[in-house]
Amino acid sequence: MDNKWVDQLSAIKRLRKDAYRLDSKIIIMLAAGVVLSGISPGLAWIGGVPAFFLFYRKVVKSAHAPCPRCKEPFGVAQKWPLGVGGDECQNCGLELKLAESDSESDGGP
Ligand SMILES: [Zn+2]
Repeated sequence: MDNKWVDQLSAIKRLRKDAYRLDSKIIIMLAAGVVLSGISPGLAWIGGVPAFFLFYRKVVKSAHAPCPRCKEPFGVAQKWPLGVGGDECQNCGLELKLAESDSESDGGP
């Protein structure tokens, strides 16, 4: 029935999964923060702050991913979201679970 949105809903799900996965850049910065805090506790922010912003940028990107049906931000409409949003479009209520039958293989390299 609503199968035409499955691809885009799957993409939103992938963005969300990705947002909460620590990628190598974030891990390196967190590690740098730990090392620097060993030198001086006041230096910990040098690794921690960029790591947080990299993480938050991914959260914003997935929260603002457009809804395939209404083209409004799917998760959160606010400029500075506190999370990736719920499982339904905040604007039109399209449900993310429609994408549950997605196959990870298509669209991958
Ligand atoms: Zn919508």
